[in-house]
Amino acid sequence: MTAAQPYDVIFVGAGHNALVAAAYLVKAGRSVCLLERAPVPGGLVRSEELTLPGFVHDTYSALHPSFVHGPVFSELGAELGEHGLRYVQGPVSTGASLPDGRTSVISTDPDARADELDRLGERGAWIRLTTDVAPHLKSLIPLLGMDLASPEAAGLLDRLRRDGADTALPYATLLTGTGHDLLGERFRSAELRCALLPWLLHLGIGPRRPAVPYGPGCSRLCCLVVTRRPMGGSGRLAEALSALVTGHGGEIRTDVEVNGGAGGGRQGRRGADRARRAAAGFCRGGRQYDPGPAVRPPAA
Ligand SMILES: Cc1cc2nc3c(=O)[nH]c(=O)nc-3n(C[C@H](O)[C@H](O)[C@H](O)COP(=O)(O)OP(=O)(O)OC[C@H]3O[C@@H](n4cnc5c(N)ncnc54)[C@H](O)[C@@H]3O)c2cc1C
Repeated sequence: MTAAQPYDVIFVGAGHNALVAAAYLVKAGRSVCLLERAPVPGGLVRSEELTLPGFVHDTYSALHPSFVHGPVFSELGAELGEHGLRYVQGPVSTGASLPDGRTSVISTDPDARADELDRLGERGAWIRLTTDVAPHLKSLIPLLGMDLASPEAAGLLDRLRRDGADTALPYATLLTGTGHDLLGERFRSAELRCALLPWLLHLGIGPRRPAVPYGPGCSRLCCLVVTRRPMGGSGRLAEALSALVTGHGGEIRTDVEVNGGAGGGRQGRRGADRARRAAAGFCRGGRQYDPGPAVRPPAA
């Protein structure tokens, strides 16, 4: 594909969602170009040496449970593996490090976890919370990621209310309480509370926001199950997806802002205009990207 030729599809932004869509298109023989304003593709999926040389940190997202357990990974996983992507379960699920030096380390190994909970004096409370949450999990798990206003969710929420009425952690408590209060009531050690509370943020729920019907379930699940991570950091997913796209002839142009500042904007506009079939914005709609006149549905 030369600069003069149009592309079948042009993406504004090269975050992992655009990369996945582009991967399917290039594998189906379509020509694609991704215009990315950052110096590297991947968006919020990125790993960098943020502290000391040799210590790689996930700058933003760290865990990809819905991706790694979902249909895209089962379809593209083998090819992504050829580009170096490997998900592994490490020995530690989560933890906290407090400014005064206190720590908690929640291991995936049950014996090591029990030892740590004993050290914190929280083994009994942990078992009680786990036991109390257990009856709700059958309804809570499908609710994760579901639109809570949908009729499907309404049925599950109703079941939670009905079946959970006589449990030690009734649905009403889950619904009206906050994650902060629940963990504060259940655990004495700040180390453990600090390790568990941030997991609510992965559902977009603030620690002091009421209506956390599935917060504790999520915390428990995240701690114990869904913590496989890409070896080498989250950014390996972006790298492998980028390699897959370019390996099939797709083009990724970085440092190009569509509708943005000086040179990049013009370049982006010209690129987006050359879409033969579609121009797609994968950069969170109007907040980050104003489609304006630059990206428009191409003539049929
Ligand atoms: C701190 C943090 C932690 C997170 N942790 C997790 C986690 O552990 N697990 C999880 O599943 N999710 C996590 N998320 C959410 C997750 O990272 C995002 O939902 C996901 O990365 C969104 O991917 P995307 O491809 O849709 O968009 P993005 O990753 O936002 O990519 C959009 C891309 O478009 C580019 N762009 C935007 N506007 C323009 C323009 N005008 N011209 C050119 N390019 C443009 C941007 O530079 C960016 O590269 C976290 C988010 C944050 C902020």
